[in-house]
Amino acid sequence: MADSKNNKRRCSFCGRSENEVGFLITGMNGYICDSCTSQAYEITQEAMGNKVAGKGVALDMTELPKPQEIKSFLDQYIIGQDDAKRFLSVSVYNHYKRLLQKDSSDDVEIEKSNIIMVGSTGTGKTLLARTIAKLLHVPFTIVDATVLTEAGYVGEDIESILTRLLQVADYNVAEAEQGIVFIDEIDKIARKGDNPSITRDVSGEGVQQGLLKLLEGSVVNVPPQGGRKHPDQKMIPVNTKNILFICGGAFDGIEKKIAQRLNTHVVGYGATQKTAQIDKNNMMQYIAPQDLKSFGLIPEIIGRLPVLTYLNPLDRTALRSILTEPKNSIIKQYVKLFDMDGVKLTFEPEVFEYIVDKAVEYKLGARGLRSIVETIMMDVMFEIPSTKKKSFEVTLDYARKQLDKANLARLQTA
Ligand code: ADP
Repeated sequence: MADSKNNKRRCSFCGRSENEVGFLITGMNGYICDSCTSQAYEITQEAMGNKVAGKGVALDMTELPKPQEIKSFLDQYIIGQDDAKRFLSVSVYNHYKRLLQKDSSDDVEIEKSNIIMVGSTGTGKTLLARTIAKLLHVPFTIVDATVLTEAGYVGEDIESILTRLLQVADYNVAEAEQGIVFIDEIDKIARKGDNPSITRDVSGEGVQQGLLKLLEGSVVNVPPQGGRKHPDQKMIPVNTKNILFICGGAFDGIEKKIAQRLNTHVVGYGATQKTAQIDKNNMMQYIAPQDLKSFGLIPEIIGRLPVLTYLNPLDRTALRSILTEPKNSIIKQYVKLFDMDGVKLTFEPEVFEYIVDKAVEYKLGARGLRSIVETIMMDVMFEIPSTKKKSFEVTLDYARKQLDKANLARLQTA
């Protein structure tokens, strides 16, 4: 209702004026503010018996997506990476089971198995994490380890990792305490060099020690708005015992450490036989916890990340599939964009091979595929909405012409 005195619009439910709320939605004879809408939503959800995981009653065993179902879901969006998918599916399934074992009458308590995924940049680590989040009924968030520093230094406190989780759980602590956190670029907090602390290693070992506390499971004070803690900020205590942590990192150069270890192990009896079996093009598949240690993760952290898996480098075939096969592949996205303008977009099959050629030639990886397609399509996307054309075919000639005009080398550092 509009306030006759000062002409202010107010929420017809809570009575707060326009400038006391986020925004007001106008109805026939009144207004409703943002917080009343979300309250109304919650009431409706409850009334409809639509119970959300973590808020009281959650899933039961029959509702749990089985590891094979989780993997099939991942298969729709991610090409290859079978090992990583299997490890993730099982771990997430077990995570749910842990959450369901509320009252264990026997003394067997399932411990959580945090995960670490190792693989070059652009091979699908984040995509895996994001995709699994779509399937989940628990709060999920992705954080970047590069911004973290030890308390007292410039950067973000380690506890701020949980701020995002609290935010996605709408500050429902019980719900956040059952969530999943993906920590990206975990390799960036590795200890630099093997000599601990001649000078202080602000972003290395200290951060790992801090992170350890979270991984192990303890009650930590989380700044509700993130960033640095300051004295007059009210902290929210969060127990990390049931939070599943998935870590990912490129660990550039770890292949050398793997090779070194494998070489020292195969010396002597049976050496020739074993070396013959090693696939030198993909050393990542032999990764073991001691390689993470050689890279600079402290043993305690490694011990708290018992599930170790890897991602394969993407070869030509994988890149070709990524272009067209996933449920929301790059090409499908462009077809949809054009369709929204009423234009039927098609490609000559050779164009796909050509795009992959360019991605390989300029070492752009999967991320580069999108930039290449974008470069090819830019002109036509600019022009076609203003014409009456109902279809467009991207021919090999057209693609060549567009890319020749552009300078692909500029994409290399992107
Ligand atoms: P990472 O986290 O390993 O650095 P991302 O998951 O961010 O890599 O991958 C970058 C992009 O490349 C993704 O958004 C996706 O479009 C594409 N991509 C990478 N790997 C795959 C894959 N295995 N299947 C499908 N798309 C992929």
